[in-house]
Amino acid sequence: MDVEIVSRIEKLKKELNAIILAHNYQPPQVQDIADFVGDSLELSIKAMQSNAKVIVFAGVDFMAEQAAVLNENSTVLHPEPDAKCPMASMISVEDVEKAVRKYPGAPVVMYVNSPAAVKALANYVVTSANAVNLVKALDSETIIFGPDKHLAEYVAEKTGKNVVAVPEHGHCPVHVKFSLEEITCLKSIYRNCVFIAHPECPRAVRSQADFVGSTSQMIEFVKRSSARTFLVGTEVGIIYRMAKEAREKVFIPASTKAICDDMKKITLEKILSSLVSKSYVMKIDRAVAEKVRKAIENTFDVLGVSRPWRK
Ligand code: SF4
Repeated sequence: MDVEIVSRIEKLKKELNAIILAHNYQPPQVQDIADFVGDSLELSIKAMQSNAKVIVFAGVDFMAEQAAVLNENSTVLHPEPDAKCPMASMISVEDVEKAVRKYPGAPVVMYVNSPAAVKALANYVVTSANAVNLVKALDSETIIFGPDKHLAEYVAEKTGKNVVAVPEHGHCPVHVKFSLEEITCLKSIYRNCVFIAHPECPRAVRSQADFVGSTSQMIEFVKRSSARTFLVGTEVGIIYRMAKEAREKVFIPASTKAICDDMKKITLEKILSSLVSKSYVMKIDRAVAEKVRKAIENTFDVLGVSRPWRK
């Protein structure tokens, strides 16, 4: 069955000049059919650098939105509109407006895991890979940061700045599932393991980690490390990619409960159906898209990174 679906997807991709982008947390069969697998920013950049007319985004809503913002000349399809990031929906435009009134002049830094309407109010848009460097480089001691309070806390630790989390309760429901008891127990079983954790994890969990980084940084770390066994403190889907890219190494989930149900809503069947019916098209208001693009450009400029716009 999968073989037939895969061959129909491949045929449609050629006919429509389409590419499939899959996030690191996608199910294995979706990762295998994808042209690129990566984190949300890497995927949007890949999309910009391709000449595809159609981009099928296998991820959650804000990722497809981000791809649409950065690829205005392509049609971005989200195969399952109900695949929504719960953390992104924890922040509202009103939350940001309130924080701006409370901290006048403080730059607004928004994590990519947020809705486009909220990013449009930001001065900068960051990923977990570049948030620390961006905040460090800003000429301000107080920063408004949303929507993840744990990432905000991590950035504060690394920069020594007053990073105000907006809203106060924003978090990823998957990355709060790790428990110290379970990690301690797994470390005692896998004695020489290296514990790697995502900065969306709470401080108590991060403090137990040998390495903290974004999904792309974790993948680079395990490839380079001389260690053989890794305890993985992020969504379990990443282990499939790690195992493919570092075949001689062993990866143990730090919790088997760390599963993002929304990420798993994308299936091969839905990707096929999306290509057949050309749905669901991700539409972004032009004025909003323009403001989000500006905030992303500001980030690249502050970091001194050239903008990877379409070749
Ligand atoms: S893992 Fe967390 S942050 Fe990522 S999409 Fe799922 S709920 Fe959102």
